[in-house]
Amino acid sequence: MAQGNLDLYSQFVTSAPGSFIAGKVGLPQPEQLRRHEVGQPALHGPVLIGGEGRLVEPVREMLQGDYEIAGADAEGKFAGLVFDATGIRSPEELKALFEFFNPVVRRVARSGRIVVLGTTPEETGAVDERIAQRALEGFTRSLGKEMKRGATVQLVYVSADADTGASGLESTLRFILSGKSAYVDGQVFTVGAGAASAPASWDRPLEGKVAVVTGAARGIGAEIAAVLSRDGAHVICCDIPAAGESLAATANKVGGTSLPLDVTAADAAEVLAQHVKDRHDGTVDILVHNAGITRDKTLAGMDAARWDSVMAVNLIAPERITAELAEKGVLGEGSRVVGVSSMAGIAGNRGQTNYAASKAGVIGFVDGASTELASKKVTVNAVAPGFIETQMTAAIPFATREAGRRMNSMQQGGLPVDVAEAIAYFASPASSAVTGNVIRVCGQSLLGA
Ligand code: NAD
Repeated sequence: MAQGNLDLYSQFVTSAPGSFIAGKVGLPQPEQLRRHEVGQPALHGPVLIGGEGRLVEPVREMLQGDYEIAGADAEGKFAGLVFDATGIRSPEELKALFEFFNPVVRRVARSGRIVVLGTTPEETGAVDERIAQRALEGFTRSLGKEMKRGATVQLVYVSADADTGASGLESTLRFILSGKSAYVDGQVFTVGAGAASAPASWDRPLEGKVAVVTGAARGIGAEIAAVLSRDGAHVICCDIPAAGESLAATANKVGGTSLPLDVTAADAAEVLAQHVKDRHDGTVDILVHNAGITRDKTLAGMDAARWDSVMAVNLIAPERITAELAEKGVLGEGSRVVGVSSMAGIAGNRGQTNYAASKAGVIGFVDGASTELASKKVTVNAVAPGFIETQMTAAIPFATREAGRRMNSMQQGGLPVDVAEAIAYFASPASSAVTGNVIRVCGQSLLGA
C-alpha cells in the first residue's frame, strides 16, 4: 500500500507489526483514504440506488454512463449507496431509511460513499414532511460517525422546485461519489431549483475559465491553484509581494500567472481589474479568497494590531474585493466566488477570538453575498477546513496536534488537495444551482456541529 499520504503515526499502525500492536491495545488505525486520480474511475465498484422519491429515476439515468449501477439482487461490496428520501413525508415513513440501509450498510467498500437525498426542509409544505426531512440530518451525521475504513456519508437537500431532471444536482453527486471528497464527511449540501448544464468534459470542467486564487504562494492556496489548473482554468496566483519567489514557482508549476498583491491594499480590486483587462477579456470567472492569517492570543492579552490584521486579511478583504469586482462588472454573470472559513469559525477556539470571528464572518459573507449576487447568477460558497496537514498545523505543539489530527471520523488530518477539490466543485460551471453552502472539509471533526 502506498504510504505517501500518511503521517508518521499512520504509517506505523498500517505496517504489519504496527497494525498488530495497535489492534491489541486499541489505538486508532487510520485508513489510507482513496483520493481522485486522473484517468481512474470515480468509484471502484457498483452503486446501489434506492428510495421512492422524485429523484431516484433521474439520478439513476444521470449516473449510469460513468458508474456501474448495481441490480437489486447484487452480491458483494458496494462502492456507493444512494438513497432518495424525498418521498418521505412523515416521521413514520422514516422507517424506510432503516429498511434500506440496515441490510446493506456492512457491505460498503473501503472509502465507500453513502448519499441521502432529501427536500430542503424550509421548502416543504406540511409540518409532518418538514419534520421528516429535517430528521435526515441526524441520521446521516450519525451514520457518518459509525462508518469505518474511509467511508463517508452526506446529505443533499434538493429544492422542492427543482425540475425533475435534477441536472442541478449532478455536480454535487459527482463530487460526493468520487475520491475528490475523501476528507468530506457528515456534511449537508443544499442544491437550488435551477437546472445546470454539464460541461463538455467532466475531466476538464473549467476549460477556458479565468480563476484568481489569493494566498497562492504556498500551502492550501498553492494546491487550489494546481487543482483548478488541472481542471482546465488559467489561474492568476496572488500573494503578498514578499512571497514573490514561491508565488512565481506556483504560477510556473500550474502554467498560470503570478500577480503580487496584498489583498488588504486599498487598490487591490483595482489592480486585479486592470490585470484581467490587460491579459484576459476583463472578467474573472472564479474568485477564491484563500489568503488567511492567524495572530493567536487570548483576548485579555491581545493587542489591537492582532485583531485588526486578522480581520483585514480574512474577512474585510474578501468582502470588499468581491463587492468592488461585482460593481465593476469584472465578476461577470455566472461567476463563482469561494471563501475559506475554518472549523474555528464554527466551534470557536481558545486564543483565536480574532481568527474565529473572522472565519465565522466568512460564513455570514456567504449567506449575504449569495443572496445579493443571485440576480447576476453569481454563486458564493465556502469551505471550512478542519485539521489540514500544512506548515501552519505542523507548527502546533505535539499533543494538541495529535488530538486535532485524530479527533474526527477519519482519525487523520486532511491534505491541502482535499480542500482544493471541494473548491473546484463549487467553481464548476455545472454547480450553478449550488450557492450559499459552507462545506466542512474536516473528516467529520468531533469538534463543532
Ligand atoms: P499558509 O499560511 O500556509 O498560507 C497562507 C498564504 O496567504 C500565504 O502564502 C500568505 O503569504 C498569504 N497571505 C497572507 N496575508 C496575505 C495578504 N494580505 N495578501 C495576500 N496574501 C496573503 O496557510 P494555509 O494553511 O495554506 O491556509 C490557507 C487558508 O486556509 C487560510 O485562509 C486559513 O485560515 C485556512 N485554514 C487552514 C487550515 C489548516 O489546517 N491549515 C484550517 C482551517 C482554515
